[in-house]
Amino acid sequence: MAYVYKELSDRDYEELNETLKKSDSLDVLKWAAQTYGNKLVYACSFGAEAMVLLDLLSKVQRKAHILFLDTDFHFKETYELIDRVKERYPDFVIQMARPELTPEEQAAKYGEALWESDPNKCCQIRKLDVLERGLAPYDAWLSGLRRAQSPTRANTEFVNRDDRFQAVKICPLIHWTEEEVWMYIQLHNLPYNELHDQSYPSIGCTYCTQAVAAGEDARSGRWSNHTKTECGLHAPVKGE
Ligand code: SF4
Repeated sequence: MAYVYKELSDRDYEELNETLKKSDSLDVLKWAAQTYGNKLVYACSFGAEAMVLLDLLSKVQRKAHILFLDTDFHFKETYELIDRVKERYPDFVIQMARPELTPEEQAAKYGEALWESDPNKCCQIRKLDVLERGLAPYDAWLSGLRRAQSPTRANTEFVNRDDRFQAVKICPLIHWTEEEVWMYIQLHNLPYNELHDQSYPSIGCTYCTQAVAAGEDARSGRWSNHTKTECGLHAPVKGE
């Protein structure tokens, strides 16, 4: 069977997930690397889960392709972290994928502070369109989603049909808890974004990320002035 988006039926996804259901994250990554080779890319946010997934990926695909959506609006700590990751995993092929519009061009076309007036449009330009172009050469993409992160992620499987980007989306960390993520980071002395130590559990663009108070939901600091909770990269899966 060719495991590409346009040739897989819903039944095929069910069978794949049934086959993989007793696998651990490393086994899922091994399967992904063997199945897709250089047609596999990790769309990496460089959040805490990403540190785990990058480390596991380095064990099965030394020259893995990594795609970062560089919106131009990330924290300096995030760019510094990417430099540290490059030092630790020098064979990874890390692509900094940029939007078609510079921040200045976006402001001239749509007005200042589009992230305030229309954050969905801003995410469309600076994230979704960029990911769509970035994924085009690949058959499958990796994501570090965990089921426990939010209700919209609760039904995520290891292997998912991604109609939005017409690709197979593979999520090896679905069963991990936040505690397990941080235990792995500490156990393996992995680099991580320093902002995590300053009450930023989920880190995106500077304009749309705030620190959270103790006990608040980990994603409550994202788009905290809007009803928006996701940038749209991860469409809810069936059953939600
Ligand atoms: S997270 Fe905010 S600044 Fe970043 S692309 Fe989306 S709306 Fe724009």
